[in-house]
Amino acid sequence: MSTVDRSVSAATDRHLDRFGNAGEELLVGGVPLGRLAARVGSTPFFAYDRAGVTRAVGALRAGLGDAVELGYAVKANPMPALVGHLAGLVDWLDVASAGELAVALDTGKSPDRVSFAGPGKTDAELSVAVAAGVLIELESAREAVRVVRVGEGLGIRPRVAVRVNPDFAVQGSGMRMGGGPQQFGVDAEEVPHLLVLLADLDLAVEGFHLFAGSQNLHPDLLRQAQEHTVDLLLALAERLPAPLRYLNLGGGLGIPYAERDRPLDPAEVGGTLARLVEERVRPRQPDAHVVLELGRFLVGESGVYVTRVVDRKVSRGRTYLVVDGGLHHQLAATGNLGQVIRRNYPIAVGTRLGGGEVETVDVVGCLCTPLDVLGHEVELPVADVGDLVVLFQAGAYGRTASPQQFLGHPAPAEVLV
Ligand SMILES: *Cc1c(COP(=O)(O)O)cnc(C)c1O
Repeated sequence: MSTVDRSVSAATDRHLDRFGNAGEELLVGGVPLGRLAARVGSTPFFAYDRAGVTRAVGALRAGLGDAVELGYAVKANPMPALVGHLAGLVDWLDVASAGELAVALDTGKSPDRVSFAGPGKTDAELSVAVAAGVLIELESAREAVRVVRVGEGLGIRPRVAVRVNPDFAVQGSGMRMGGGPQQFGVDAEEVPHLLVLLADLDLAVEGFHLFAGSQNLHPDLLRQAQEHTVDLLLALAERLPAPLRYLNLGGGLGIPYAERDRPLDPAEVGGTLARLVEERVRPRQPDAHVVLELGRFLVGESGVYVTRVVDRKVSRGRTYLVVDGGLHHQLAATGNLGQVIRRNYPIAVGTRLGGGEVETVDVVGCLCTPLDVLGHEVELPVADVGDLVVLFQAGAYGRTASPQQFLGHPAPAEVLV
């Protein structure tokens, strides 16, 4: 790998080194960017680095050891080829719709190792899930009753776990999904009562699931949340009518987007959790599957969103690079996916990594709205029409977390390299 003149790119060493470069061009999976664009046949596109995903899983596994199983939350990136790749690397796939369930089952993963969460599962989705034999994570008492009815109709005993809305909030998460009032899960204090109800129903109750927040970059706060999670779920497990088989501790491990974000150390985070499980869970529950469930952390850093410059213009002293992509494909990079403050995602001109003259530009998308800003006042090498602009950290919550229909442009291609 040759070196890159860091001064000319708003992306950091971390992003550039992950992919490498051949001369001026970024490599994705070893393929120079221009050639990859030709191979894909159109821009914009998302490209995912298969080896990068393998490495991300391996680094975490090195810390987790045998103590904790790993699940992939398909929601983060449901591209079938990518999910297929991950199915061979992780122990569980977690889905949140019948569509994701179909993708998960198509990988050949055993339904024993597929879980289904989500607050608004329809009867049709529940029926598909029960027929498939996957583990349904109950989000309410009413949903439990509906699952039983669906099971009776099919003549199949549904497998379920109770999703718990904890009596604590996880600090430091970019997006909170537990603690206080929530549409997710059953309030912890209501769970004992629900377990009494479930004992009389024709269900296999296998355990618990707790997912309380996403995008957390604080190892200490993650450890605290994991301790609280383990203690709460172990206490609830005492009231389970059957032996505990499944203990899904959630996850929420984040990746760095803004310049000031510090990445988590996967070996450290994994090792901390492994020790916690050995010390607190194993003495009381030697046989349960203990699962860490992650989306973003496994795939986010291995994806790039590649756009081509279609215009370059100067307006009253400000230089704009107008690219053929935008917020309709990569909403998060424009700061419009729940962020309070807009911060630039790492960005580079993937065809000009060799150095040369730099300038400060705004990189804007092709949509006719001022929201479509991919990079604000970023220092980049002077680029021209035809150059390829790359947004990093695009492997999770990109294509499917963006309003693709907005303004009627074609969907972006995706490639796993
Ligand atoms: C979204 C979600 C995940 C994945 O979250 P990440 O922050 O991408 O790791 C895991 N579990 C459940 C239930 C989710 O809703």
